[in-house]
Amino acid sequence: MTTLCALLGYPVGHSRSPAMQNAAFRELGLDWRYEAIEVDPERFEPVVRELPARGFAGANVTVPHKLRALSVADSASAVARAVGAANTLSFGADGIVAHNTDVDGFLRALQERAPQAPAGMRALVLGAGGAARAVVYALREQNAGAINVWNRHPERAEALAREFAEPGRPPIRAVAEPTVRDADLLVNATSVGMAVPRARAREPEDFKLLHISADNLGDAQIVVDLVYRDGGTPLLRAAKARGSTHVDGIDILVHQGAASFELWTGRPAPLEAMRLGARTRQTDRAS
Ligand code: NAP
Repeated sequence: MTTLCALLGYPVGHSRSPAMQNAAFRELGLDWRYEAIEVDPERFEPVVRELPARGFAGANVTVPHKLRALSVADSASAVARAVGAANTLSFGADGIVAHNTDVDGFLRALQERAPQAPAGMRALVLGAGGAARAVVYALREQNAGAINVWNRHPERAEALAREFAEPGRPPIRAVAEPTVRDADLLVNATSVGMAVPRARAREPEDFKLLHISADNLGDAQIVVDLVYRDGGTPLLRAAKARGSTHVDGIDILVHQGAASFELWTGRPAPLEAMRLGARTRQTDRAS
């Protein structure tokens, strides 16, 4: 019988995870299938609870269910507990187990492009949602030099900084305005940039929303955008044009997906097949 995995989100139509995970299953000749299921927030818990009996071995969880995924689970990895959110569930003898592979996905993609990062670096993180929590946790654990957090609603950045700052660890501060020239590493963990590219005229609008200027991007050695879209986000394109090392959201997606794949199947993930599946959204023969 085919083993199933799911992406649970609201909405899910834009996701490249089905193409990416099914490419991985095909590459290894596994009789597994991954499908996207749109789940209304009110239905999240009952849907999760019925998945194991329907033949599902696990699920990825995306906006807006990542906090709920942690509370629904019977147990959780130390990383998921520390981040306070889960993007992966596995179903087995231990019941529903919550994991957070966004942390590993971010670090593996970052270190693929910049093996020296982020130790000792001054980081500026834009955002204070679930993705920003994973990024700040990852930077703290990898001994970034200092972490500044900016968010549109500043009280969320302040709360995040308070929650993650620990004595003897890298200083984490909320900043009222993001200053790129003081940062070695800039990470966009907001959802700005997701808009469908209608015209290049939208680009200044994206920078305005993030309170940064494209002209300063050359000051950051490394620019990471968790958001991805065809042709690259305005932030990523500007970083590339100004000669910064850049990490795009698809690479992060591939690495978090690879970590989830390994949790479910116990097999090493076929990274290149997953990269190709995610980038080309190849027609999915398995679903
Ligand atoms: P979330 O919890 O909903 O947080 C959204 C964040 O974006 C908040 O900080 C929010 O600020 C900010 N934001 C939204 N609209 C904004 C605007 N118009 N101007 C300025 N800031 C705005 O979502 P999330 O889970 O953190 O995800 C954030 C993004 O990362 C999403 O696009 C998601 O797809 C992407 N992501 C990618 C990967 C990957 O593998 N590549 C993994 C995880 C997430 P406020 O608090 O002020 O509302």
